[in-house]
Amino acid sequence: MSRDRSVHCHDCDAVCCRLTVVLSAEDVVPSAYVVHRGDLDLMAHGEDGWCLALDRERMCCSIYAQRPAACRRFSMGGPYCLAERAAYAAGTRRIPITLIG
Ligand code: SF4
Ligand code: SF4
Repeated sequence: MSRDRSVHCHDCDAVCCRLTVVLSAEDVVPSAYVVHRGDLDLMAHGEDGWCLALDRERMCCSIYAQRPAACRRFSMGGPYCLAERAAYAAGTRRIPITLIG
């Protein structure tokens, strides 16, 4: 998969942490960060739109070692990352996108 090596998470508002993350059976995430929707377990979001597990001061994952499989697979500088960054910068992200665990 192609990757833009000029893109780094430390220059980003953690926009991928605004996406819906569906947890898989293998994920072990603190229950305080999980919500149940129908048959799905999802990462909970705050009113600001970001995942509850995001450290708001450092804008990085506070459960990095335990982050869900879907988050582990998200590729910095990959097509999905670039698309989310562009949509966020343009203020055009309207349709929730789901990361499947
Ligand atoms: S993976 Fe991409 S969208 Fe997510 S924090 Fe890093 S640069 Fe930003
Ligand atoms: S679990 Fe961590 S990496 Fe995944 S969306 Fe939440 S803050 Fe981001």
